[in-house]
Amino acid sequence: MVKKDLPFSVEKLESIAKEYGTPFHIYDESAIIKNVRGLKEAFSWAPEFKEYFAVKATPNPYILKILAEEGLGADCSSLPELILAEKVGLRGEDIVLTSNNTPAQEYKKARDLGAIINLDDISHIDFLDKEVGIPEMISFRYNPGSLRQGGNSIIGNPEDAKYGVTREQIFECYSKVRSLGAKRFGLHTMVISNELDPNFFIETARMMFELAVELKRKLNICIEVINLGGGIGIPYRPEQEPVDLNYVGKMIEKVYNDTIVPNGLNPIKIAMECGRMITGPYGYLVSKVLHKKEIYKNYVGLDSCMADLMRPGIYGAYHHISVIGKEHLPLDHVYDIVGSLCENNDKFAIDRALPKIDINDLIVIHDTGAHGHAMGFNYNGKLRSQELLLKPDKTVNLIRRAETIDDYFATLDFSLL
Ligand SMILES: *Cc1c(COP(=O)(O)O)cnc(C)c1O
Repeated sequence: MVKKDLPFSVEKLESIAKEYGTPFHIYDESAIIKNVRGLKEAFSWAPEFKEYFAVKATPNPYILKILAEEGLGADCSSLPELILAEKVGLRGEDIVLTSNNTPAQEYKKARDLGAIINLDDISHIDFLDKEVGIPEMISFRYNPGSLRQGGNSIIGNPEDAKYGVTREQIFECYSKVRSLGAKRFGLHTMVISNELDPNFFIETARMMFELAVELKRKLNICIEVINLGGGIGIPYRPEQEPVDLNYVGKMIEKVYNDTIVPNGLNPIKIAMECGRMITGPYGYLVSKVLHKKEIYKNYVGLDSCMADLMRPGIYGAYHHISVIGKEHLPLDHVYDIVGSLCENNDKFAIDRALPKIDINDLIVIHDTGAHGHAMGFNYNGKLRSQELLLKPDKTVNLIRRAETIDDYFATLDFSLL
């Protein structure tokens, strides 16, 4: 059987399920920390390196706190995400606001926190100026248009993506903010999502370093921070390999030495804003089998649903599944693993070969640590699950309780009926 490892024994998971009830997402703290240290190590050659965790991936303050203690900042794109970063003690340039179609109140909050504001459009310069003034430090998100290597299925071709400013606009952007008083400059892009080919990140870095050189030559703008965005993929399928971060780091170092250094731009700070690769592989959605149904196909119904994990339903994304205690049995049954939404794409897996499943079996869906719980919605009156944290000493903390029916009704006033 193709296997993915679990950070707990069968007995341990059974006892957690017994204590907390199912379903739940559980995150493995020590694995997250080890992974973050690996990323930082891969860029330890840089004059300065900062990973701003994309809060939208796992917007839980207990996770953000662990990351902040490892020296990570926060990449936010909404007012609640800025507030979450603030709640865990992040301030100033440890926070980046990379939003789009941005409301004034987000700019105001970012300004109050001293966060780096990363503008998504040339028209936002005047908007920002009018609403909160132009800060000393300002960054722009670059959209390179049609890329040499094309886009991918999640973000699409950058040309079709709504994000960022064009190549023509970017020069005007920096001239304009400088004339309005900006003194320090960042340059950002995010062109890819869930990409496993290391060359994409190396080529992105090359494109950005060359652009920084051009900005210096044409406008005498000195870029202080180059933010390469997120988008590093994770091996959702057991046969896939993770991105070799050391290789990516080494190759980007080489590109830096070939572009930034000879043009006299050293030192430039390198930043990233990964979400998925930081927490994704270290979260697990644990559910119990509620029903089995045999009609034209064989279905296994869980006590979780799309409210807990949207990716299979909306992207057709693969998430590996383990049937706890049956890891060594042959995969001689084929099932659709489904939730309870009245929505036929509420399926965690379709035609998946698995061992024989019985009612009350514990089912683990892998790689739910990023864009998992966070994406959930309440359609059909479904409530989102609790989130647990597996501590390095293997104790478990509840870091978000499950939603209740009162939460679901919280925005209604029944007394006016
Ligand atoms: C979503 C997002 C990220 C994180 O993407 P991952 O695929 O989780 O690494 C980073 N930056 C921006 C602007 C985003 O929208």
